[in-house]
Amino acid sequence: MIENTTFDPEKIRADFPILAKKSGTRDLIYFDNAATSQKPRCVIEAIEKFYANDNANIHRGLYHLSATATSDFENARKIVAKFLNAREPRECIFTRGATEAINLVAASWGRKNLRAGDEILLTQMEHHANIVPWQIVAEETGATIRVAPILPDGSLDVAAWKNLLSARTKIAAFAHTSNALGTKNPVRELVAAAHSAGALALIDGAQGAAHSRIDVQESGCDFFAFSGHKVLGPTGIGVLYGKVDLLSAMPPYQSGGDMIEKVDFAGTTFRGIPERFEAGTPNICGAVGLGVALEYFQKIRAGAEAHESALLRYATQKLEAIPSIKILGTAREKAPVISFVMRGVHPSDLGTLLDTYGVAVRVGHHCAMPLMKVLGVTGTVRASLAFYNTFAEIDAFADALVEIEKMF
Ligand code: PLP
Repeated sequence: MIENTTFDPEKIRADFPILAKKSGTRDLIYFDNAATSQKPRCVIEAIEKFYANDNANIHRGLYHLSATATSDFENARKIVAKFLNAREPRECIFTRGATEAINLVAASWGRKNLRAGDEILLTQMEHHANIVPWQIVAEETGATIRVAPILPDGSLDVAAWKNLLSARTKIAAFAHTSNALGTKNPVRELVAAAHSAGALALIDGAQGAAHSRIDVQESGCDFFAFSGHKVLGPTGIGVLYGKVDLLSAMPPYQSGGDMIEKVDFAGTTFRGIPERFEAGTPNICGAVGLGVALEYFQKIRAGAEAHESALLRYATQKLEAIPSIKILGTAREKAPVISFVMRGVHPSDLGTLLDTYGVAVRVGHHCAMPLMKVLGVTGTVRASLAFYNTFAEIDAFADALVEIEKMF
């Protein structure tokens, strides 16, 4: 049943030039939003404006143009801080994305603080970006990785997760929202439990930032990582949020220009945060574009979330009505992500056939190979929706699936 929401996706779609595109002769139906979101015109224009009017390197120039570029960049940090409800902008470090943000914590905090016998608590639903950096630092330090299981509906087994917490746990790192299942985790409860055990909590917010209101003070997390390109911003820019005391006590991750106080061949001293973690020329224009994206998103977010929930319910009903389809991940709290398999059809074949109908979905392991092993599949088809998608697109998608089902 199509639900009535006051949010008007047709009006919103006009802000996204790419959505008017054809895929071959068909209208493009973009259902790969978990991989990357499309960009509103205001972000595209901000990028053009920056390079046409404001471009200069930041922090170092004494001339007017450099001061403008610096102020654009630092203003973007303020917008990010507001988006996350961080206490101060300097708690927000610009990175290339969520992957680099997690690597930063694993390498800098991890190498300094982890020892043999310590434990890092992960979950079975993690993206490789929240597994591999921990494996590397575990190998270097002698720490051990523990992995909490999921339940059959794809939600985290919170009781089992809590049972794995102990005085040995030094950090618990978990997804806010699973990219492969859509499951939203009870992050506030997990952070509180980690803290009670004396561990830090890192939230991989790569998916969460696009589908939930984020409040790092309310969740109490120590670190939060997200990527700009999944929240309407440009690629190559992301954020690591960290509490001031923690970040200030961490050694540099990368080194070079802009992060130093004084360099001498006898030794070097480093600046405070955030500069200490932003070595070299950053993605200045990316940060500016991200700021514009987050401001746009914040204006429409409440309506967007309600519309996405209605889309998810509608798409789930439609797919459940197709006999050969099995949805993987049916947790009660879900982002608009539907992972599924069709009996007798390889996910890659299904993805290729859907493309002929103009439908862009992702197929494969979704950078979550350990999760696929737990689910007993080599891969799935993933339709990940956004607030600019429509009920009509879901109808066209479901019709295509019914036609494809008949081919096999
Ligand atoms: N974590 C999750 C849950 C993701 O979905 C992704 C990307 O899909 C990442 C981390 C890594 O994000 P990026 O490739 O933008 O660094």
